[in-house]
Parts: sequence; structure tokens; C-alpha cells
Amino acid sequence: MKEIVPTPPAIVQSQFAEVRELFNRYVVPSYGRYEIAFSHGAGNHLWDVNGKRYVDFGGGIAVTSLGHCNPEITETLVEQSKKLVHVSNLYFHEPQGRLAENIVTNLAPGKVFFSNSGAEANEGLYKVARKFGHDEGRFEIITANNSFHGRTLAGIAATGQEKVKKGFEPLMPGFRHVPFNDLEAMRAAISPATVAILIEGIQGEGGITPATVEYLLGLRKLCDEKRLLLMMDAVQCGHFRSGRFQSFQRILEGHPAEKVFLPDAVSMAKSLGGGFPIGAFWVRQEVHGVKLCDILSPGTHATTFGGTPLGCAVANKVFEVIKRDRLVENVRTTGEFLKQRINSLAEKYPAVVKGARGMGFMLGIELQDKDGIKPFAAIDKPAAAQMCARLHEAGVLLIPSGNQIVRLLPALNLGHADAEAGMDLVEGVVRRLA
Ligand SMILES: *Cc1c(COP(=O)(O)O)cnc(C)c1O
Repeated sequence: MKEIVPTPPAIVQSQFAEVRELFNRYVVPSYGRYEIAFSHGAGNHLWDVNGKRYVDFGGGIAVTSLGHCNPEITETLVEQSKKLVHVSNLYFHEPQGRLAENIVTNLAPGKVFFSNSGAEANEGLYKVARKFGHDEGRFEIITANNSFHGRTLAGIAATGQEKVKKGFEPLMPGFRHVPFNDLEAMRAAISPATVAILIEGIQGEGGITPATVEYLLGLRKLCDEKRLLLMMDAVQCGHFRSGRFQSFQRILEGHPAEKVFLPDAVSMAKSLGGGFPIGAFWVRQEVHGVKLCDILSPGTHATTFGGTPLGCAVANKVFEVIKRDRLVENVRTTGEFLKQRINSLAEKYPAVVKGARGMGFMLGIELQDKDGIKPFAAIDKPAAAQMCARLHEAGVLLIPSGNQIVRLLPALNLGHADAEAGMDLVEGVVRRLA
């Protein structure tokens, strides 16, 4: 794709200050934002209001799955918006049915409910679990330490991180956390009130940590023994980012259990809409003798916006392009290239980089402790945050994950040339720090 770098007009010097001032005055200050205001994007590049160009390895936190301002997404938005944008869920329309079919075809027999965000998709999972356990008085859901499940009140109760809960007590009851990838801890935590287990296939906010094969298979067995639901939050790690539609499919690849392992419910959002806000959860056809996919009967769950014709048309286009352009193969090969580049950084500059984490296009660069990196030691900010600021100066966008990891969540169509150019910028920053 041809990209034109705009020449910054003289007035842009004040443009950032102006945007910043609007936020100071009018926007709730709940985010610790970086001092950049973007004006436009194309493919894997973004431009700020001063005309500076950035390679985008963050993908708007794993959202812009086909890059910025993808012409096919734009066309779909325009065409569908001329036909039908919204009708509510009082009625039927084809795009929602087709999108549900796409998800089921790529996952397994079951049914899909559409929401507007990841947190809302997870809310659906909690309600499925509560409905499933209701008549037996079971309601408790066990999640993992360092997990992230969204910022609603149930979401912060489900999330295994103290920082999201602080100041919002009393928390919604019915959630407990145990160490991730520790099967015995999970087994020990199950009580007579437990109804479900919820984990991410690859923890995103907690440091790019994939579940192990033994953990996934062990949890399935545990859920079968104790009549629990195994639920997976695939909001960040799903939608082909791992190199398969779902991360558990990639993790179990080549294992005899690959063909039989299945969670009972999966939430999704982020990459699903390629930038258009849409979330969803899939529920398995049947488990423990219950037709789980029909457990939310008419009147039990609803949303006004969920699964609009516009959002679903875009998400269907994303599915179509991923398949047509064989983006899964791209995620695997380019993902492997990125991972090798990160590993070579660790070899060349061990004083700064510890190593690579993750798989496909969900990768982490693990940094040394802040106090171990000389220029970082003097500043009272985690290494990951300081590193991201330096990378921004160099013209490449990455995202912190925890205190010591910066992550890459690029568009699934990130090509080799952009991947290489971005990694050269990353390497330049690491070299200067070392
Ligand atoms: C981002 C994220 C969420 C929350 O999604 P929102 O769209 O921000 O509500 C939930 N779970 C995981 C794993 C996420 O990465």
C-alpha cells in the first residue's frame, strides 16, 4: 500500500497542546495517557498531529486486526451503513446470523451472543455460569492471579489483580483467584459453591503467559469430575492472534487431545471487529448433560446495541479477509521472525532484554528489572512504561504488560518489511540503553 507522509503545516506546533487542553478540561482523567495525539493511520502506520510517523506494533491493544483504515473495512462500513445500521435485537437480520455461523464454524458446535466489548462478553459468561449452577446453589467462579477480565464491577471482581479493585469495594461476591498454570492450586480451591473456572489461554495484561498443555487438559478433567464449566476469556488472545482461531487450539497443536479438548464457553472482542466495537461469547452445545447453548432462554440476557448489522458486517469482512489472505500463515511466519528478533536482542543485549514471551502475534519482550537498567533506575516508573516512552521517541508503538514486559499485538496482516523496520527501531533503542 502506498503511504504518503503529510508535510506538517506551520500551525501543528500548537495542535497537540490544544488537544491536550481539551482532555485536561473535559475528559475524565481515568487513563494515564502517553503524550501523543494521533491524527490518522494507514496499514501498520500511524501519524501524530505533528506529522511524525510511527510503526504500530500495538494494534490499538490487539484491535485493528487488518491494520488502520483498511480500505475493505471502510467499504464495508460505507455500504452496510447505506443499507441498515441498527434495528435492535427485537428482530432478525442476516449479518448477525452469518457472524454467529462464522464463529461456530471456526470453533465448535454451539451458539453465540453478541455484546459491545470484552467486559460485556465476560459478563455473559458469568451469567451462563450462574444460571447453570443456580438450582444447586452454586455460583462461585475461580479465576487466575494476574488475569484480566475487564473493568465492570463483575469484571474487577473476576480480575486477579489488586490494583483494579482498589477503591471500589465492596466487590461483587462469588470470585476467587489462584496462581495461574497451577493445577493443584485450582483443585484445592474448589468448594461446594464453585460452578466454573475462567482463564485466559494466554494472559495478556499479566505478562503474556500462555497456559501450558498440562494445565488446559488438567482443568478440563477437573471440570468434568466436579461438574464445573471451563470458560475461556479469549478477548485478547483469540481471533487468530496465536496462529489458530483460539489460543488453546495452538497450544494443544500436535497433542493427541487436540481434537477432543473443548472449553464450555469462550468470550471474544478486540480483534473481532477490526476496530469496530463488538464483542461476543460462544457457548458449547452440550456439557454435563445440559444443553448449555440454550441456557440463556428468552428474557434472561439482552443488550440494545449488541450485534448490529453494521458491526456484524464488518466482523464478517474481517473473517473473510483473514481466510482469503491466509493471515494465519502470516501470523505464524512473521510471528516467528519477530520472536527470533526478540531472542537475538536478549543474546546481544542481556543487560536490557531477558527474552521473548508468547506466540504468533501476541508477543512480549521481557526486560530486566528497572534497577538493573541504568538509565531507568533513576526514574520512579516501571521499566515497561519507561521503555514504551523511549520506543515512542524512536517511532514505534508497543504496549506495557505488567512492569517488566512490553508487548506486540500487531495487525494480523503485518508484513515482513514493516515487521523488520519496526524491530530495527526497537533494536536501536535497546542498543542505546545497553
Ligand atoms: C481487553 C480485555 C478485556 C476487556 O475488554 P473491554 O473491551 O476493554 O471491555 C477482557 N479480557 C481480556 C483478556 C482483555 O484483554
